[in-house]
Amino acid sequence: MIRKLLRRVFSKAPAAAAGEAALIPFERHGIRREAVSPGARQTVARLQEHGHAAYVVGGAVRDLLAGIAPKDFDVATDATPEQVRALFRRSRIIGRRFRIVHVMSGGETIEVSTFRAANGSETETDTHGRVLRDNAFGSIAEDAARRDFTINALYYNPADETITDYHHGVADLQEKALRMIGDPRSRYREDPVRMLRAVRLAAKLGLTIAPAARAPIREMATLLENVPAARLLDEMLKLLLSGHAVACLRQLREEGLHHGLLPLLDVIMEQPLGERFVWLSLASTDARVKAGKRASPGFLFATLLWHEVLAAWAARKQAGEAAIPALHAAMDEVLDLQGGKLAITRRIAADIKEIWLLQPRLENRAGRRPLRVVEQPRFRAGFDFLLLRAESGEVDGELADWWRCFIDAGTEARLAMLAPEKKPGRRRRGRRKPVGDGADGEA
Ligand code: ATP
Ligand code: MG
Repeated sequence: MIRKLLRRVFSKAPAAAAGEAALIPFERHGIRREAVSPGARQTVARLQEHGHAAYVVGGAVRDLLAGIAPKDFDVATDATPEQVRALFRRSRIIGRRFRIVHVMSGGETIEVSTFRAANGSETETDTHGRVLRDNAFGSIAEDAARRDFTINALYYNPADETITDYHHGVADLQEKALRMIGDPRSRYREDPVRMLRAVRLAAKLGLTIAPAARAPIREMATLLENVPAARLLDEMLKLLLSGHAVACLRQLREEGLHHGLLPLLDVIMEQPLGERFVWLSLASTDARVKAGKRASPGFLFATLLWHEVLAAWAARKQAGEAAIPALHAAMDEVLDLQGGKLAITRRIAADIKEIWLLQPRLENRAGRRPLRVVEQPRFRAGFDFLLLRAESGEVDGELADWWRCFIDAGTEARLAMLAPEKKPGRRRRGRRKPVGDGADGEA
């Protein structure tokens, strides 16, 4: 009812018949062509000059409508990848599942995709119905029907500043509703990652997932197990580094979607210390991203998995293994178990390990050790990690404060802060400020 009413208010044009698009003029959406990046504008213009249809499409149009600065601009066209490639000197065809063209313009990379045809008999799927490959080209209407949510199926033409809208996406965005195009069950079966996208986009844009799109998620969540790990990692990184990780993970948990992603995420979140730590780290990542600062995947995964490492490490030490070899073994154990599903890359895994290995070193302030630790290339990340541990109550706040002072101190002051080695029979030299217990604790 309300939706119908709003639609009548928002669309002065007669309601579009099925398959017919509403053409929304500037006065009703307010997006100036200048809001589109120079590279995307030039790409569209060049395609149009050569007689092709071309639009800015997808997330960028949606974000502009929502008043958010788009991360990047995608272009959709009726030109084939080969035709696009021929028009732009700095371009290359990429992708297998979907072939697209990357057009380089200034410092930008514009993704140009050819209108896709509706899924047909030639679409290749796996035994669960997941679409593996499909490169059949079609009309703009077919392309719109293939997109996931109505708010993602908007085509902006910088030339006349109109939006072509086949699925009432503009009205849905104004109503703050995330609606699936077509039958949600079939769309999730074709591509289970759409469930994660639903959660991420709802959190990012403050939308409510429409009941029809929300209801099937719980029962279909297990389909995520068939998604290749590399694709899951991509989507998880988008989600965790979106600046809305806290909201996304809350929603994931609510929808019962966190199970297959990090096998132990649910366990982590149920340990009192681990849970506090994970949420703190997500909140601090969100704050960084919102402030325009870099947030590294390695740091984030290091925090998500830390309490697993602590548990595995403690078990090994209890079984009599020496502290540092036990830590190495515990790290490998956790990364093997967790990393498999998410295909955590070697590089990210190396970052994660460096951060973890710095932790016992930050806890051992004996002798001149702090002078060496502070020179480590990943010291800053290790220290930030320590701050979260202190904030979550896992380690004493005094330790974090001490390092903060140490970092700020000049050479003289640093030397004065050093604690003597705790070696029996050795006499303490001179008087020193007390610095906690001089912790050479084996952490
Ligand atoms: P963001 O860039 O903020 O992560 P986005 O919606 O732009 O979000 P992209 O992955 O850049 O996400 O995809 C661009 C567009 O391609 C989407 O807006 C949507 O129209 C379409 N799309 C992306 N993924 C899917 C999918 N799994 N199923 C159907 N359409 C999709
Ligand atoms: Mg995008």
